[in-house]
Amino acid sequence: MSNIRFKAIFKSSEHKVHPMVESAKRSEAFGVNVFNNDRMMQYLTKDAMESVKNAIQTGSKIDRKMADQIAESMKAWAMSMGATHYTHWFQPLTGATAEKHDAFFDLLPNGKAMEKFGGSQLVQQEPDASSFPSGGIRNTFEARGYTAWDPTSPAFIYGATLCIPTVFVSYTGEALDNKAPLLRALHAVDQAATSVARYFDKNVNKVMATLGWEQEYFLIDKAVANSRPDIVLTGRTLVGHSAAKGQQLDDHYFGVIPLRALNFMKDLEMECTKLGIPVKTRHNEVAPNQFELAPVFEEANLAVDHNLLLMDVMDKVADRHELKVLFHEKPFSGINGSGKHNNWSLATDTGINLLSPGSTPMKNLQFLTFFVNTIKAVDTYEELLRASIASASNDHRLGANEAPPAIFSIFIGKQLSSVLDELEGVSKGKLSPEEKTELKLNVVGKIPEILLDNTDRNRTSPFAFTGNKFEMRGVGSKINCAKPMTVLNTIVARQLIDFKEEVDNLIDKKGLKKDEAIFNILREYIKSSKRIRFEGDGYSEAWHKEAAKRKLSNNKTTPEAVNILTAKSSLDLFRDMQVMSEIEVRARQEVDLENYILQTQIEGRVFNELVNTHIIPAAITYQNSVIENVKGLKEVFGASYKKLAEGQLAILEEISLHLGATKQKSEAMIIARKKANAEKDIHKKAMGYCYDVRPYFDDIRYHCDKLEQLVDDQKWPLAKYRELLFIR
Ligand code: ADP
Ligand code: MG
Repeated sequence: MSNIRFKAIFKSSEHKVHPMVESAKRSEAFGVNVFNNDRMMQYLTKDAMESVKNAIQTGSKIDRKMADQIAESMKAWAMSMGATHYTHWFQPLTGATAEKHDAFFDLLPNGKAMEKFGGSQLVQQEPDASSFPSGGIRNTFEARGYTAWDPTSPAFIYGATLCIPTVFVSYTGEALDNKAPLLRALHAVDQAATSVARYFDKNVNKVMATLGWEQEYFLIDKAVANSRPDIVLTGRTLVGHSAAKGQQLDDHYFGVIPLRALNFMKDLEMECTKLGIPVKTRHNEVAPNQFELAPVFEEANLAVDHNLLLMDVMDKVADRHELKVLFHEKPFSGINGSGKHNNWSLATDTGINLLSPGSTPMKNLQFLTFFVNTIKAVDTYEELLRASIASASNDHRLGANEAPPAIFSIFIGKQLSSVLDELEGVSKGKLSPEEKTELKLNVVGKIPEILLDNTDRNRTSPFAFTGNKFEMRGVGSKINCAKPMTVLNTIVARQLIDFKEEVDNLIDKKGLKKDEAIFNILREYIKSSKRIRFEGDGYSEAWHKEAAKRKLSNNKTTPEAVNILTAKSSLDLFRDMQVMSEIEVRARQEVDLENYILQTQIEGRVFNELVNTHIIPAAITYQNSVIENVKGLKEVFGASYKKLAEGQLAILEEISLHLGATKQKSEAMIIARKKANAEKDIHKKAMGYCYDVRPYFDDIRYHCDKLEQLVDDQKWPLAKYRELLFIR
């Protein structure tokens, strides 16, 4: 038991599983740690309650006196729950969340101590945020930025800390986080969708975007995971030969959840329930030790916060169970990676899902309006959507094994395809009474309320309509959903504004009836957005060729994908929708590139360390023992030893070959890194990492994995795939 690998395996075998008991009624525990509506009613005065409600519904400001009152009540509640600290919880551009805890405890001028928390502490804070990425918005010498309370996402207690969801902005007003642009995009889509929804129902006053994410992850024994420097530092395995058994038997997907993982899930779900995260579904995923958790969908801003909170809670709960959660999109080569499907729709304050077909032709025309406009928006801005999910880690997954390709296309199913085909034939201008009746009865009227066709899901589609929502599948497991949700809601807002203008134009200037005008515009959209629709196999070579013909973008890597962010069309879009200024967009592009460079750089460094201090020494040690053996044979058998040592000599040669190549390639990678580092232009530097450095990873890995297959198992220092994936 000489090396850390065997110590870890031994430790994992000592782990005892005590089945966890779940309390029967989850609803009773739901949200007990959240300052939600019920609690506010209990703790706030009527006026204060009203001002919070208005802030949530209309975005109105909460005045200082009111804030003081709310803070006082929040503190009273939090302290009754045992909280000692508070924090402004925010989402810097690192992709994770950040927090800095302050105690309620304070000293009065007379030296006496008391617990304090006023409106000013609730509403605004100034964390020393000079070390968060800002993409050049805020140079470190003017490191001022502040966090501001987001009353639309309720405060909650985690551990002994009252957490207040906030946006993070610079003193000059630029957003330094992922939440502020999301809130602006949600506001834009609310306004645009509300005015279109009012064509159909004058009672609609608000539309909210809904989001239901599905979080995939790997769960690995902690000791075994921690024995691998690559997992600890990069979240994925840089080397490792596939195990003899992987996912080829399809025996993991929806299989019986291993007891240890189930225990973790029960514990996790209880924590989530108390935090008001409506977790619902748990199951095994395709790859061994891969799982999924999905909640009931919520308003998008809240859903984003809940996903971020979940990831944090998962880390902490896993630790209690001696497990480690891997959120990386591709932690293991040769088996499935992890995604985070984003199910998205729009819901009115009258309780209608705008992407759900209804029971009458008019309701279906409303459905078709939002359905076709979404398709049109995705068609126009497909490249921007792709950019919103770009990261060094997700680059490994998109287009690999199971994940959708980097080409955006929309799957809508047979039934709706034929509806759109028929709508394409609608006459221009005024419609005859016969045509109107025909449309209402036989086209719009025939859309079934439940679209069975869509249960036959096309898993290779990056953007699929699944009955009453769109499902964006390329989102990576590690990504903050705020990024794709900001883009999706912004482009739909833009599209709906254009649609409204065009329809109104036909009504006012051409004297068309409302439904005629809508049919006319939809017909044009269906025609002009056809290229984005694709029902077939997204992995196939034929589709890649076809997509190129259709001029759909196919940006396989992050440095290429994020180019579009600063195209004029994108800058105009974000500015006009008041989601991001040019400075804010440029900053995000820079942060994306910077993150890409840093992650790749770290991987390169870890690679060198693994090669020089783990893999080559293990290979040499084993090779030496074979040399000893050959020398012994020569001593005993004299000249005839060669025949007897044939196998050993072959092993010696093979080891030398792969060892030499490993060393040579890893040295060459260092040179490539140095060259990339010397680039001043951040975009060129990212391209250098992408095209000059990264290709070495596969090369080096190939030889390392060969060595793993040659060297005595007892002497191999890194936990193997079978141990990472099958110890449970
Ligand atoms: P699958 O895994 O087959 O895609 P699931 O049932 O696991 O389907 O996940 C579907 C997800 O879609 C859930 O998170 C659910 O809450 C979400 N969802 C359902 N309806 C809506 C909606 N109207 N808006 C947003 N998300 C929704
Ligand atoms: Mg799913």
